[in-house]
Amino acid sequence: MLPTLNPSVDQFMEAIREKNPHEPDFHQAVHEVVSSIYPFIQQNPVYSDYKILERIIEPDRIIMFRVCWEDDKGRVNINRGYRVQFNNAIGPYKGGLRFHPSVRLDTFKFLGFEQVFKNSLTTLPMGAAKGGSDFDPKGKSDHEVMRFCQAFMTELIRHIGKDTDVPAGDIGVGAREIGYLFGQHKRLTNRFTGVLTGKALNFGGSLIRKEATGYGCVFFVQNMLKANGNQSIDGKICTVSGSGNVAQYTAEKLIHLGAKVVSLSDSSGTIYDPEGITAEKLAFVDELKNIKRGRIEEYATHYGCEYRPGKRPWDIPCDLAFPSATQNELSLDDAKALVKNGCIAVCEGANMPTTPDAVAYFINNNVLFGPGKAANAGGVAVSGLEMTQNSMRLSWDRHDLESRLNGIMTKIHDQCAQYAYYNTKTPNYVDGANIAGFIKVAQTMLSYGIH
Ligand code: NDP
Repeated sequence: MLPTLNPSVDQFMEAIREKNPHEPDFHQAVHEVVSSIYPFIQQNPVYSDYKILERIIEPDRIIMFRVCWEDDKGRVNINRGYRVQFNNAIGPYKGGLRFHPSVRLDTFKFLGFEQVFKNSLTTLPMGAAKGGSDFDPKGKSDHEVMRFCQAFMTELIRHIGKDTDVPAGDIGVGAREIGYLFGQHKRLTNRFTGVLTGKALNFGGSLIRKEATGYGCVFFVQNMLKANGNQSIDGKICTVSGSGNVAQYTAEKLIHLGAKVVSLSDSSGTIYDPEGITAEKLAFVDELKNIKRGRIEEYATHYGCEYRPGKRPWDIPCDLAFPSATQNELSLDDAKALVKNGCIAVCEGANMPTTPDAVAYFINNNVLFGPGKAANAGGVAVSGLEMTQNSMRLSWDRHDLESRLNGIMTKIHDQCAQYAYYNTKTPNYVDGANIAGFIKVAQTMLSYGIH
Protein backbone atom coordinates (compact mmCIF):
# COMPACT_ATOMS: atom_id res chain seq x y z
CA MET A 1 0.00 0.00 0.00
CA LEU A 2 1.25 3.51 -0.77
CA PRO A 3 1.99 5.73 2.20
CA THR A 4 0.21 9.07 2.32
CA LEU A 5 2.30 12.11 1.43
CA ASN A 6 3.58 12.38 4.99
CA PRO A 7 6.31 12.28 5.99
CA SER A 8 8.29 12.84 2.79
CA VAL A 9 8.37 12.90 -1.00
CA ASP A 10 11.30 10.47 -0.89
CA GLN A 11 9.36 7.86 1.05
CA PHE A 12 6.39 8.32 -1.22
CA MET A 13 8.57 7.84 -4.29
CA GLU A 14 10.21 4.79 -2.77
CA ALA A 15 6.80 3.12 -2.59
CA ILE A 16 6.03 4.16 -6.18
CA ARG A 17 9.30 2.60 -7.37
CA GLU A 18 8.62 -0.59 -5.48
CA LYS A 19 5.13 -0.90 -6.89
CA ASN A 20 6.16 0.00 -10.46
CA PRO A 21 9.63 -1.53 -10.89
CA HIS A 22 11.76 -0.94 -13.99
CA GLU A 23 9.76 2.10 -15.09
CA PRO A 24 12.26 4.98 -14.90
CA ASP A 25 10.38 7.36 -17.19
CA PHE A 26 7.19 6.89 -15.17
CA HIS A 27 9.11 7.45 -11.91
CA GLN A 28 10.62 10.63 -13.38
CA ALA A 29 7.24 12.01 -14.41
CA VAL A 30 5.63 11.15 -11.07
CA HIS A 31 8.52 12.55 -9.06
CA GLU A 32 8.26 15.90 -10.79
CA VAL A 33 4.54 16.16 -10.10
CA VAL A 34 4.77 14.94 -6.50
CA SER A 35 7.58 17.41 -5.75
CA SER A 36 5.45 20.28 -7.05
CA ILE A 37 2.24 19.27 -5.37
CA TYR A 38 3.54 18.14 -1.99
CA PRO A 39 3.51 21.59 -0.29
CA PHE A 40 0.14 22.38 -1.85
CA ILE A 41 -1.42 19.17 -0.55
CA GLN A 42 0.00 19.74 2.91
CA GLN A 43 -1.94 22.99 3.01
CA ASN A 44 -5.08 21.36 1.59
CA PRO A 45 -5.37 18.10 3.55
CA VAL A 46 -8.67 17.07 1.93
CA TYR A 47 -6.59 15.81 -1.01
CA SER A 48 -4.38 13.64 1.16
CA ASP A 49 -7.33 12.46 3.33
CA TYR A 50 -8.98 11.09 0.19
CA LYS A 51 -5.66 9.93 -1.31
CA ILE A 52 -6.35 11.83 -4.51
CA LEU A 53 -2.74 11.95 -5.71
CA GLU A 54 -2.24 8.26 -4.94
CA ARG A 55 -5.37 7.52 -6.99
CA ILE A 56 -4.27 9.73 -9.91
CA ILE A 57 -0.92 7.90 -10.06
CA GLU A 58 -2.66 4.53 -10.54
CA PRO A 59 -4.02 4.19 -14.12
CA ASP A 60 -7.72 3.31 -14.45
CA ARG A 61 -6.66 0.36 -16.61
CA ILE A 62 -3.82 -0.93 -18.76
CA ILE A 63 -4.52 -2.82 -21.97
CA MET A 64 -1.77 -4.82 -23.71
CA PHE A 65 -2.32 -6.96 -26.77
CA ARG A 66 -0.69 -8.92 -29.57
CA VAL A 67 -0.68 -7.46 -33.07
CA CYS A 68 0.04 -9.91 -35.93
CA TRP A 69 0.47 -8.74 -39.50
CA GLU A 70 2.03 -9.95 -42.74
CA ASP A 71 4.84 -8.05 -44.44
CA ASP A 72 5.28 -7.68 -48.20
CA LYS A 73 7.15 -10.97 -48.38
CA GLY A 74 4.29 -12.83 -46.68
CA ARG A 75 6.20 -13.27 -43.41
CA VAL A 76 4.30 -13.11 -40.13
CA ASN A 77 5.33 -10.28 -37.78
CA ILE A 78 4.33 -9.87 -34.16
CA ASN A 79 4.25 -6.58 -32.28
CA ARG A 80 2.82 -5.52 -28.96
CA GLY A 81 0.02 -2.96 -28.68
CA TYR A 82 -0.73 -0.82 -25.63
CA ARG A 83 -3.40 1.54 -24.37
CA VAL A 84 -3.04 2.99 -20.89
CA GLN A 85 -6.34 4.60 -19.90
CA PHE A 86 -5.17 6.80 -17.08
CA ASN A 87 -7.98 8.96 -15.83
CA ASN A 88 -11.43 9.92 -17.18
CA ALA A 89 -12.60 12.17 -14.34
CA ILE A 90 -13.09 15.22 -16.54
CA GLY A 91 -13.95 13.64 -19.92
CA PRO A 92 -13.42 10.68 -22.25
CA TYR A 93 -9.87 9.31 -22.31
CA LYS A 94 -7.80 11.27 -24.80
CA GLY A 95 -4.17 11.03 -25.91
CA GLY A 96 -1.96 9.97 -28.77
CA LEU A 97 -0.66 6.71 -30.19
CA ARG A 98 3.10 6.27 -30.60
CA PHE A 99 4.65 3.74 -33.00
CA HIS A 100 8.34 3.43 -32.22
CA PRO A 101 10.60 0.40 -31.57
CA SER A 102 11.84 1.86 -28.26
CA VAL A 103 8.45 1.99 -26.50
CA ARG A 104 7.63 -0.09 -23.41
CA LEU A 105 4.80 -0.03 -20.92
CA ASP A 106 6.90 2.51 -19.01
CA THR A 107 6.71 4.90 -21.98
CA PHE A 108 2.93 4.85 -22.08
CA LYS A 109 2.56 5.12 -18.31
CA PHE A 110 4.73 8.24 -18.24
CA LEU A 111 2.99 9.75 -21.24
CA GLY A 112 -0.49 8.89 -19.94
CA PHE A 113 0.30 10.35 -16.53
CA GLU A 114 1.56 13.62 -18.06
CA GLN A 115 -1.57 13.73 -20.20
CA VAL A 116 -3.81 13.90 -17.09
CA PHE A 117 -2.40 17.31 -16.17
CA LYS A 118 -2.00 18.54 -19.73
CA ASN A 119 -5.60 17.83 -20.69
CA SER A 120 -6.82 19.41 -17.50
CA LEU A 121 -4.87 22.59 -18.30
CA THR A 122 -6.50 22.94 -21.74
CA THR A 123 -9.79 23.85 -19.97
CA LEU A 124 -11.56 21.33 -22.26
CA PRO A 125 -13.43 18.22 -21.01
CA MET A 126 -10.84 15.54 -21.76
CA GLY A 127 -9.55 12.67 -19.66
CA ALA A 128 -6.16 11.12 -20.32
CA ALA A 129 -4.73 8.04 -22.05
CA LYS A 130 -1.77 7.12 -24.19
CA GLY A 131 -0.93 4.09 -26.30
CA GLY A 132 0.81 2.68 -29.33
CA SER A 133 3.13 -0.09 -30.30
CA ASP A 134 6.76 -1.12 -30.70
CA PHE A 135 6.08 -1.29 -34.45
CA ASP A 136 8.56 0.82 -36.45
CA PRO A 137 7.02 2.50 -39.50
CA LYS A 138 10.50 3.50 -40.73
CA GLY A 139 11.55 1.47 -43.77
CA LYS A 140 8.10 -0.16 -44.14
CA SER A 141 6.07 0.10 -47.32
CA ASP A 142 2.70 1.90 -47.25
CA HIS A 143 0.98 -1.48 -47.55
CA GLU A 144 2.90 -2.87 -44.59
CA VAL A 145 1.95 0.16 -42.50
CA MET A 146 -1.65 -0.29 -43.63
CA ARG A 147 -1.73 -3.97 -42.65
CA PHE A 148 -0.19 -3.20 -39.28
CA CYS A 149 -2.66 -0.37 -38.59
CA GLN A 150 -5.60 -2.57 -39.56
CA ALA A 151 -4.43 -5.35 -37.24
CA PHE A 152 -3.78 -2.87 -34.42
CA MET A 153 -7.23 -1.31 -34.74
CA THR A 154 -8.93 -4.71 -34.91
CA GLU A 155 -8.04 -5.16 -31.23
CA LEU A 156 -8.00 -1.52 -30.06
CA ILE A 157 -11.58 -1.09 -31.28
CA ARG A 158 -12.89 -2.97 -28.22
CA HIS A 159 -11.59 -0.26 -25.94
CA ILE A 160 -12.24 3.07 -27.69
CA GLY A 161 -15.21 5.16 -28.80
CA LYS A 162 -16.15 8.79 -29.24
CA ASP A 163 -17.49 9.00 -25.67
CA THR A 164 -15.03 6.49 -24.20
CA ASP A 165 -11.52 7.01 -25.51
CA VAL A 166 -10.40 9.09 -28.48
CA PRO A 167 -6.80 8.38 -29.61
CA ALA A 168 -4.71 10.69 -31.83
CA GLY A 169 -1.21 10.72 -33.37
CA ASP A 170 2.19 11.00 -31.74
CA ILE A 171 5.70 9.90 -32.78
CA GLY A 172 5.42 7.63 -35.82
CA VAL A 173 1.67 8.16 -36.16
CA GLY A 174 0.86 10.88 -38.66
CA ALA A 175 -1.84 11.49 -41.26
CA ARG A 176 -1.11 8.24 -43.13
CA GLU A 177 -1.45 6.04 -40.03
CA ILE A 178 -4.54 7.88 -38.73
CA GLY A 179 -6.18 7.33 -42.13
CA TYR A 180 -5.60 3.57 -42.02
CA LEU A 181 -6.70 3.33 -38.37
CA PHE A 182 -9.86 5.38 -38.93
CA GLY A 183 -10.69 3.43 -42.11
CA GLN A 184 -10.47 0.13 -40.25
CA HIS A 185 -12.61 1.44 -37.37
CA LYS A 186 -15.28 2.63 -39.81
CA ARG A 187 -15.21 -0.67 -41.68
CA LEU A 188 -15.59 -2.82 -38.54
CA THR A 189 -18.26 -0.71 -36.82
CA ASN A 190 -20.09 0.53 -39.92
CA ARG A 191 -20.13 3.91 -38.16
CA PHE A 192 -18.59 7.24 -39.05
CA THR A 193 -17.78 8.78 -35.69
CA GLY A 194 -15.12 11.10 -34.32
CA VAL A 195 -13.27 8.21 -32.68
CA LEU A 196 -9.81 9.49 -33.65
CA THR A 197 -8.43 12.98 -34.00
CA GLY A 198 -5.72 14.21 -36.33
CA LYS A 199 -7.86 13.02 -39.25
CA ALA A 200 -7.46 14.45 -42.76
CA LEU A 201 -9.89 17.24 -43.64
CA ASN A 202 -11.87 15.03 -46.05
CA PHE A 203 -13.07 12.76 -43.26
CA GLY A 204 -13.70 14.97 -40.29
CA GLY A 205 -10.30 16.45 -39.49
CA SER A 206 -9.87 19.95 -38.16
CA LEU A 207 -7.95 22.79 -39.73
CA ILE A 208 -4.90 23.79 -37.64
CA ARG A 209 -4.66 20.35 -35.95
CA LYS A 210 -1.37 19.46 -37.61
CA GLU A 211 0.04 22.90 -36.82
CA ALA A 212 -1.43 23.09 -33.32
CA THR A 213 1.31 21.68 -31.09
CA GLY A 214 4.09 23.69 -32.71
CA TYR A 215 2.07 26.90 -33.00
CA GLY A 216 0.80 26.46 -29.45
CA CYS A 217 4.33 26.07 -28.14
CA VAL A 218 5.31 29.37 -29.75
CA PHE A 219 2.20 31.08 -28.35
CA PHE A 220 3.20 29.77 -24.92
CA VAL A 221 6.71 31.22 -25.18
CA GLN A 222 5.20 34.51 -26.36
CA ASN A 223 3.11 34.57 -23.19
CA MET A 224 6.12 33.79 -20.99
CA LEU A 225 8.19 36.54 -22.63
CA LYS A 226 5.36 39.03 -22.34
CA ALA A 227 4.73 38.26 -18.68
CA ASN A 228 8.43 38.51 -17.82
CA GLY A 229 9.84 41.63 -19.43
CA ASN A 230 7.66 42.00 -22.51
CA GLN A 231 10.21 40.81 -25.07
CA SER A 232 9.15 40.00 -28.60
CA ILE A 233 10.02 36.90 -30.64
CA ASP A 234 11.01 39.08 -33.59
CA GLY A 235 14.77 38.82 -34.24
CA LYS A 236 15.39 35.99 -31.75
CA ILE A 237 17.77 33.17 -32.71
CA CYS A 238 16.03 29.83 -32.10
CA THR A 239 17.20 26.22 -31.97
CA VAL A 240 14.63 23.49 -32.60
CA SER A 241 15.25 19.75 -32.25
CA GLY A 242 13.36 17.09 -34.20
CA SER A 243 12.05 17.45 -37.74
CA GLY A 244 8.64 15.87 -37.35
CA ASN A 245 5.24 17.40 -36.85
CA VAL A 246 5.98 19.47 -33.75
CA ALA A 247 9.39 20.70 -34.90
CA GLN A 248 8.19 21.74 -38.35
CA TYR A 249 5.26 23.82 -37.14
CA THR A 250 7.20 25.34 -34.26
CA ALA A 251 9.75 26.49 -36.83
CA GLU A 252 7.01 27.73 -39.18
CA LYS A 253 5.37 29.95 -36.56
CA LEU A 254 8.72 31.25 -35.28
CA ILE A 255 9.78 32.22 -38.81
CA HIS A 256 6.39 33.86 -39.37
CA LEU A 257 6.94 35.97 -36.24
CA GLY A 258 10.37 37.16 -37.40
CA ALA A 259 12.65 34.76 -35.52
CA LYS A 260 15.65 33.05 -37.09
CA VAL A 261 15.49 29.25 -36.73
CA VAL A 262 18.94 27.72 -37.17
CA SER A 263 18.56 24.01 -36.44
CA LEU A 264 16.48 20.87 -36.92
CA SER A 265 17.42 17.29 -36.13
CA ASP A 266 16.42 13.63 -36.16
CA SER A 267 17.66 10.57 -34.33
CA SER A 268 20.72 10.47 -36.64
CA GLY A 269 21.97 14.06 -36.28
CA THR A 270 21.45 17.83 -36.45
CA ILE A 271 21.57 20.39 -39.24
CA TYR A 272 22.93 23.85 -38.40
CA ASP A 273 21.84 26.54 -40.84
CA PRO A 274 23.19 29.89 -39.53
CA GLU A 275 21.52 31.74 -42.43
CA GLY A 276 18.17 30.67 -41.01
CA ILE A 277 15.58 28.18 -42.19
CA THR A 278 13.06 29.86 -44.49
CA ALA A 279 9.47 28.95 -45.40
CA GLU A 280 10.79 27.50 -48.66
CA LYS A 281 13.37 25.36 -46.84
CA LEU A 282 10.65 24.16 -44.48
CA ALA A 283 8.56 23.03 -47.45
CA PHE A 284 11.58 20.93 -48.47
CA VAL A 285 11.67 19.39 -44.96
CA ASP A 286 7.94 18.66 -45.09
CA GLU A 287 8.31 16.78 -48.36
CA LEU A 288 11.49 15.07 -47.19
CA LYS A 289 9.91 13.81 -43.97
CA ASN A 290 6.28 13.19 -44.89
CA ILE A 291 6.48 12.03 -48.52
CA LYS A 292 10.00 10.78 -49.19
CA ARG A 293 10.40 9.66 -45.55
CA GLY A 294 14.07 10.68 -45.73
CA ARG A 295 16.66 11.86 -43.20
CA ILE A 296 17.40 15.45 -42.13
CA GLU A 297 20.99 15.03 -43.37
CA GLU A 298 19.59 15.51 -46.88
CA TYR A 299 18.70 19.12 -45.93
CA ALA A 300 22.40 19.83 -45.29
CA THR A 301 23.38 18.23 -48.59
CA HIS A 302 20.71 20.16 -50.48
CA TYR A 303 21.34 23.58 -48.91
CA GLY A 304 25.08 23.22 -48.29
CA CYS A 305 24.97 23.81 -44.54
CA GLU A 306 26.62 21.97 -41.66
CA TYR A 307 25.45 18.47 -40.65
CA ARG A 308 26.43 17.19 -37.19
CA PRO A 309 26.02 13.42 -37.14
CA GLY A 310 24.86 11.95 -33.82
CA LYS A 311 24.57 15.42 -32.22
CA ARG A 312 21.78 17.48 -30.70
CA PRO A 313 21.40 21.22 -31.29
CA TRP A 314 21.96 22.46 -27.74
CA ASP A 315 25.54 23.73 -28.11
CA ILE A 316 24.44 26.12 -30.86
CA PRO A 317 24.11 29.71 -29.49
CA CYS A 318 20.47 30.80 -29.32
CA ASP A 319 18.01 33.02 -27.46
CA LEU A 320 15.18 30.48 -27.40
CA ALA A 321 15.37 26.67 -27.47
CA PHE A 322 12.58 24.27 -28.42
CA PRO A 323 13.24 20.58 -27.67
CA SER A 324 10.66 18.96 -29.95
CA ALA A 325 11.83 15.38 -30.61
CA THR A 326 11.57 12.96 -27.68
CA GLN A 327 11.98 12.39 -23.93
CA ASN A 328 15.25 13.13 -22.12
CA GLU A 329 16.93 14.67 -25.15
CA LEU A 330 18.26 17.70 -23.25
CA SER A 331 20.71 16.89 -20.42
CA LEU A 332 22.35 18.95 -17.67
CA ASP A 333 25.44 19.49 -19.86
CA ASP A 334 23.18 20.71 -22.65
CA ALA A 335 21.44 23.07 -20.20
CA LYS A 336 24.79 24.47 -19.08
CA ALA A 337 25.79 25.08 -22.70
CA LEU A 338 22.49 26.85 -23.41
CA VAL A 339 22.78 29.08 -20.33
CA LYS A 340 26.42 29.88 -21.10
CA ASN A 341 25.43 30.92 -24.62
CA GLY A 342 22.78 33.33 -23.32
CA CYS A 343 19.56 31.38 -23.90
CA ILE A 344 16.66 33.18 -22.15
CA ALA A 345 13.81 30.69 -22.59
CA VAL A 346 13.31 26.97 -23.20
CA CYS A 347 9.91 25.70 -24.27
CA GLU A 348 9.19 21.96 -24.47
CA GLY A 349 7.43 20.91 -27.67
CA ALA A 350 8.13 17.25 -26.89
CA ASN A 351 6.97 15.36 -23.81
CA MET A 352 9.54 15.40 -20.98
CA PRO A 353 12.50 16.18 -23.27
CA THR A 354 14.47 17.88 -20.48
CA THR A 355 16.07 15.81 -17.73
CA PRO A 356 15.13 16.85 -14.15
CA ASP A 357 18.61 18.21 -13.33
CA ALA A 358 18.54 20.29 -16.51
CA VAL A 359 15.08 21.67 -15.61
CA ALA A 360 16.37 22.67 -12.17
CA TYR A 361 19.44 24.29 -13.75
CA PHE A 362 17.28 26.42 -16.04
CA ILE A 363 14.98 27.55 -13.24
CA ASN A 364 17.90 28.31 -10.89
CA ASN A 365 19.56 30.34 -13.64
CA ASN A 366 16.48 32.44 -14.40
CA VAL A 367 15.83 30.85 -17.78
CA LEU A 368 12.10 30.89 -18.47
CA PHE A 369 11.11 27.25 -18.72
CA GLY A 370 7.83 26.13 -20.35
CA PRO A 371 7.12 22.51 -19.34
CA GLY A 372 5.70 20.23 -22.04
CA LYS A 373 2.49 19.46 -20.23
CA ALA A 374 1.60 23.14 -20.61
CA ALA A 375 3.62 24.31 -23.61
CA ASN A 376 2.72 21.46 -25.97
CA ALA A 377 -0.93 21.21 -24.92
CA GLY A 378 -2.04 23.05 -28.09
CA GLY A 379 -2.16 19.76 -30.01
CA VAL A 380 -4.57 18.04 -27.70
CA ALA A 381 -6.53 21.27 -27.31
CA VAL A 382 -7.23 21.41 -31.05
CA SER A 383 -7.97 17.66 -30.93
CA GLY A 384 -10.63 18.62 -28.39
CA LEU A 385 -11.93 21.21 -30.85
CA GLU A 386 -11.91 18.51 -33.57
CA MET A 387 -14.14 16.38 -31.31
CA THR A 388 -16.51 19.32 -30.85
CA GLN A 389 -16.69 19.95 -34.60
CA ASN A 390 -17.32 16.23 -35.26
CA SER A 391 -20.15 16.18 -32.73
CA MET A 392 -21.68 19.28 -34.28
CA ARG A 393 -21.00 17.97 -37.81
CA LEU A 394 -19.52 21.26 -38.93
CA SER A 395 -16.07 22.76 -39.48
CA TRP A 396 -14.69 26.00 -38.14
CA ASP A 397 -12.40 28.09 -40.33
CA ARG A 398 -8.62 28.44 -39.93
CA HIS A 399 -8.71 31.97 -38.54
CA ASP A 400 -11.31 31.04 -35.94
CA LEU A 401 -9.37 27.92 -34.87
CA GLU A 402 -6.03 29.68 -34.66
CA SER A 403 -7.49 32.40 -32.50
CA ARG A 404 -9.16 29.77 -30.26
CA LEU A 405 -5.79 27.99 -29.98
CA ASN A 406 -4.06 31.24 -29.11
CA GLY A 407 -6.69 31.99 -26.47
CA ILE A 408 -6.34 28.51 -24.95
CA MET A 409 -2.54 28.82 -24.76
CA THR A 410 -2.92 32.16 -22.99
CA LYS A 411 -5.34 30.58 -20.50
CA ILE A 412 -2.90 27.70 -19.95
CA HIS A 413 -0.07 30.14 -19.38
CA ASP A 414 -2.14 32.20 -16.96
CA GLN A 415 -3.20 29.16 -14.92
CA CYS A 416 0.45 28.07 -14.67
CA ALA A 417 1.54 31.60 -13.76
CA GLN A 418 -1.12 31.78 -11.03
CA TYR A 419 0.55 28.88 -9.17
CA ALA A 420 4.10 29.43 -10.43
CA TYR A 421 5.06 31.54 -7.44
CA TYR A 422 3.69 29.11 -4.94
CA ASN A 423 7.13 27.98 -3.79
CA THR A 424 9.64 30.17 -5.53
CA LYS A 425 10.49 33.80 -6.10
CA THR A 426 11.04 33.45 -9.84
CA PRO A 427 8.28 31.94 -11.97
CA ASN A 428 8.41 28.18 -11.76
CA TYR A 429 6.03 27.12 -14.52
CA VAL A 430 6.69 23.45 -13.72
CA ASP A 431 5.09 23.81 -10.30
CA GLY A 432 2.44 26.07 -11.79
CA ALA A 433 1.43 23.52 -14.45
CA ASN A 434 1.39 20.61 -12.02
CA ILE A 435 -0.67 22.37 -9.36
CA ALA A 436 -3.14 23.99 -11.77
CA GLY A 437 -3.58 20.72 -13.71
CA PHE A 438 -4.04 18.76 -10.48
CA ILE A 439 -6.70 20.97 -8.90
CA LYS A 440 -9.37 20.49 -11.59
CA VAL A 441 -8.98 16.71 -11.74
CA ALA A 442 -8.69 16.39 -7.96
CA GLN A 443 -11.79 18.45 -7.23
CA THR A 444 -13.76 16.41 -9.77
CA MET A 445 -12.59 13.14 -8.22
CA LEU A 446 -13.71 14.38 -4.82
CA SER A 447 -17.18 15.05 -6.27
CA TYR A 448 -17.48 11.42 -7.41
CA GLY A 449 -16.74 9.92 -4.01
CA ILE A 450 -14.41 7.00 -3.51
CA HIS A 451 -13.82 4.68 -6.47
P1 NDP B 1 7.14 12.82 -35.29
O1 NDP B 1 7.14 11.36 -35.40
O2 NDP B 1 6.44 13.64 -36.31
O3 NDP B 1 8.63 13.37 -35.18
C1 NDP B 1 9.47 12.93 -34.16
C2 NDP B 1 10.84 13.56 -34.38
O4 NDP B 1 11.65 13.26 -33.25
C3 NDP B 1 11.57 13.01 -35.61
O5 NDP B 1 12.39 14.00 -36.13
C4 NDP B 1 12.38 11.87 -34.98
O6 NDP B 1 13.54 11.51 -35.71
C5 NDP B 1 12.78 12.49 -33.67
N1 NDP B 1 13.04 11.42 -32.69
C6 NDP B 1 12.21 10.41 -32.32
N2 NDP B 1 12.82 9.61 -31.44
C7 NDP B 1 14.04 10.13 -31.25
C8 NDP B 1 15.14 9.76 -30.44
N3 NDP B 1 15.07 8.69 -29.64
N4 NDP B 1 16.25 10.56 -30.49
C9 NDP B 1 16.31 11.65 -31.28
N5 NDP B 1 15.29 12.04 -32.07
C10 NDP B 1 14.19 11.29 -32.05
O7 NDP B 1 6.56 13.12 -33.81
P2 NDP B 1 5.93 14.47 -33.25
O8 NDP B 1 6.60 15.64 -33.84
O9 NDP B 1 4.46 14.35 -33.33
O10 NDP B 1 6.30 14.34 -31.69
C11 NDP B 1 7.51 14.87 -31.15
C12 NDP B 1 7.36 15.02 -29.65
O11 NDP B 1 6.26 15.90 -29.36
C13 NDP B 1 7.05 13.73 -28.88
O12 NDP B 1 7.64 13.81 -27.60
C14 NDP B 1 5.54 13.78 -28.75
O13 NDP B 1 5.08 12.99 -27.65
C15 NDP B 1 5.34 15.26 -28.49
N6 NDP B 1 4.00 15.77 -28.74
C16 NDP B 1 3.44 15.65 -29.98
C17 NDP B 1 2.19 16.16 -30.21
C18 NDP B 1 1.57 16.18 -31.57
O14 NDP B 1 0.54 16.82 -31.73
N7 NDP B 1 2.15 15.55 -32.58
C19 NDP B 1 1.40 16.75 -29.12
C20 NDP B 1 2.13 16.90 -27.88
C21 NDP B 1 3.37 16.39 -27.71
P3 NDP B 1 13.59 10.12 -36.50
O15 NDP B 1 12.82 10.36 -37.74
O16 NDP B 1 15.03 9.86 -36.72
O17 NDP B 1 12.96 9.09 -35.60
